[in-house]
Amino acid sequence: MTDTIFGRIARGEQAADLLYEDEDVVAFRDINPQAPIHILVIPRKPIATLNALEPQDAELIGKLFLAAARIAAQEGIAERGYRTVINCNAEAGQTVFHLHLHLLGGRPLQWPPG
Ligand code: 5GP
Repeated sequence: MTDTIFGRIARGEQAADLLYEDEDVVAFRDINPQAPIHILVIPRKPIATLNALEPQDAELIGKLFLAAARIAAQEGIAERGYRTVINCNAEAGQTVFHLHLHLLGGRPLQWPPG
């Protein structure tokens, strides 16, 4: 797959407001936040979309959600509530083709989403 801005952030080649990183996962604030707290959690592995997941990625996906829950607690929104979203392809509005989990919170979130 082609390289993306998130691949460059994961490799430290592009600046980002990093909140968490380990050998598999990187988390940073979204540059255009849609809520008071809007964080992106990505795998270092460049997976383009949710459709490209393979069985061997199961543990990695679990790590994304574990990181998101930990960060939500650090940000003080775990009890109030928050939302995690993965947009897949055009109709969901995916614009960066490196898998990413949005962590949104800090305000009441509407349902259904737009
Ligand atoms: P998508 O629409 O693909 O689900 O979400 C992509 C997200 O990445 C958007 O919320 C957008 O604001 C964010 N984004 C795009 N480019 C950058 C960047 O260079 N840095 C950061 N921190 N976020 C970005």
